[in-house]
Amino acid sequence: MKVEVFDDLCISCGECISLCPNIFEWGDDDKAIAKVNDVPQGVEQLAHEAVEGCPTAAIKEE
Ligand code: SF4
Repeated sequence: MKVEVFDDLCISCGECISLCPNIFEWGDDDKAIAKVNDVPQGVEQLAHEAVEGCPTAAIKEE
C-alpha cells in the first residue's frame, strides 16, 4: 500500500498526522506529506482510516 497527499487539496487540519504520525508529517508549506512511500503492513489499517478521514479527500492510496 502506498499513500500520497495532494497538497493543493490539503487544508492543514492535522487529522492524518494525529491519527497516523508514523506515516504523515508536516511539510515545509504546512501541508501534510507522506513520510514513507510504502506503508508498513502493521499500520495499513490506520493509514486507510487517515485516507477515509481526510475532510477534503486529499490523500490517495494505491
Ligand atoms: S487530513 Fe487531509 S486535510 Fe487534514 S492535514 Fe491530512 S491531508 Fe491535510
